Amino acid sequence: MESRIVILGGGESGVGAAILARQKGYEVFLSDAGRISANRRKMLKTSEIAFEESGHSEENILNADLVIKSPGIPDNAPIIQKLTGKGIPIISEIEFAYRFINKAKVVAITGTNGKTTTSLLTCHLLKEAGFKVALGGNIGKSLASLVAEGGYHYYVVEISSFQLDGIVHFRPDIAVLLNITPDHLDRYNNNFHDYVKSKFRIIENLTQEEAFIYYADCNLITEELSRNKVEASVFAMSASNNEKFNAYPKEDNLIFNFEFKNTGVNQKIPLSEISLIGKHNMVNSMAAVISALCFEVPIGKVLRGLKTFKNAPHRLEFVDEVDGIGFINDSKATNVDSVYYALDGVKKEIIWIAGGIDKGNDYAQIEHLVKEKVKGLVCMGRDNTILTDFFAAKVANIAEADSPKKAIEQAFEWACKGDVVLLSPACASFDLFSNYEDRGEKFKKAVRKFKKGLKEKV
Ligand code: ADP
Repeated sequence: MESRIVILGGGESGVGAAILARQKGYEVFLSDAGRISANRRKMLKTSEIAFEESGHSEENILNADLVIKSPGIPDNAPIIQKLTGKGIPIISEIEFAYRFINKAKVVAITGTNGKTTTSLLTCHLLKEAGFKVALGGNIGKSLASLVAEGGYHYYVVEISSFQLDGIVHFRPDIAVLLNITPDHLDRYNNNFHDYVKSKFRIIENLTQEEAFIYYADCNLITEELSRNKVEASVFAMSASNNEKFNAYPKEDNLIFNFEFKNTGVNQKIPLSEISLIGKHNMVNSMAAVISALCFEVPIGKVLRGLKTFKNAPHRLEFVDEVDGIGFINDSKATNVDSVYYALDGVKKEIIWIAGGIDKGNDYAQIEHLVKEKVKGLVCMGRDNTILTDFFAAKVANIAEADSPKKAIEQAFEWACKGDVVLLSPACASFDLFSNYEDRGEKFKKAVRKFKKGLKEKV
């Protein structure tokens, strides 16, 4: 019988796990090699949980019956090696929280990109249907703290590969795998296949009773699937029109065609009913809709939810319209791949605001889209050489700006009624801003101020 639980890491997941473990009657000790925030320290004290910070005292850790490890701690950390050497089981907070979920249903969402959008939308659709649903995991609150709160019938859980690394029995009712592209390779010994295998752990405990939703256009997923036996009911989504898939676009609709637990689903949803824009968001929407339909949310509620959904800020976020020109904030797009989806998704002529700290970008990937749609490029960074050199002969108008205000003024000068000014930087933000959120907020503020200024002139 496990009685002493040691939690490594005093962040959101660690403190959540500690509170849940204490609530369930375990002896709990939390240890963090760094500092714990004042707020979390207070939470631990209120719950009477023993803890230490700024270092690990081995005598209080190596006597654990069970260790819950924060996803931020790598397997090669010395304390983890020592625990492993002693044969002490180490699990993730997700695994621990799952033990106490009882009858509630779980949707687990993973992938390299799109997790947050899909998790938020899935939660929104279930909420729209009146379900008692909580959203957490890699976003917002930890699953453990939500379970400790109690009262939920559904949990939508965003899951990173690190969290999946520490599961044992975790078996969501619905598992979603959106895509896999190279990321976090530093944590997987630069072995891409290890990262892929990690993502696939989301289905390792599934049976026929559970659903697995995946993106079939992603070769890495389909290759790995062909190597694995999958027990779950499988749903394939595609961004191309092909009837062999369970969800796909056809003309101006998304088609849903599948059977789950003896119920047939055959639905057509007009794209005009979906508030999210872009091809990638079509896939995110399909995953959320399949999940909702599997939980028998009535189609009317699904349609309403799709229409009323507002994504997290800075992801293709519509800011305002100024004299018939739309302004979109996609500050979260810090790589070329994300910009590809933004340019592809906006069905208008574009004045593109990009730039910042280049992370070795290869702009060839988006060259054709830029040539087709972008009539002006405003480079908003300290050093814009890479961008200006690459697009010099490819875009009619190029200018530089060192603030959102100047970028917006320049973009407005080039734009005509019906065009879109799109901030989708393809770069990190640290040259002019503290982070992507700061960049997005300052852009939005500058757009609103600009609009106000124009009105006052009239
Ligand atoms: P995550 O939580 O996985 O980081 P987000 O929903 O926050 O995902 O989206 C991050 C960025 O990834 C967005 O700016 C968008 O450009 C891109 N993105 C979103 N969904 C997808 C998808 N299904 N495929 C590829 N890229 C996507």
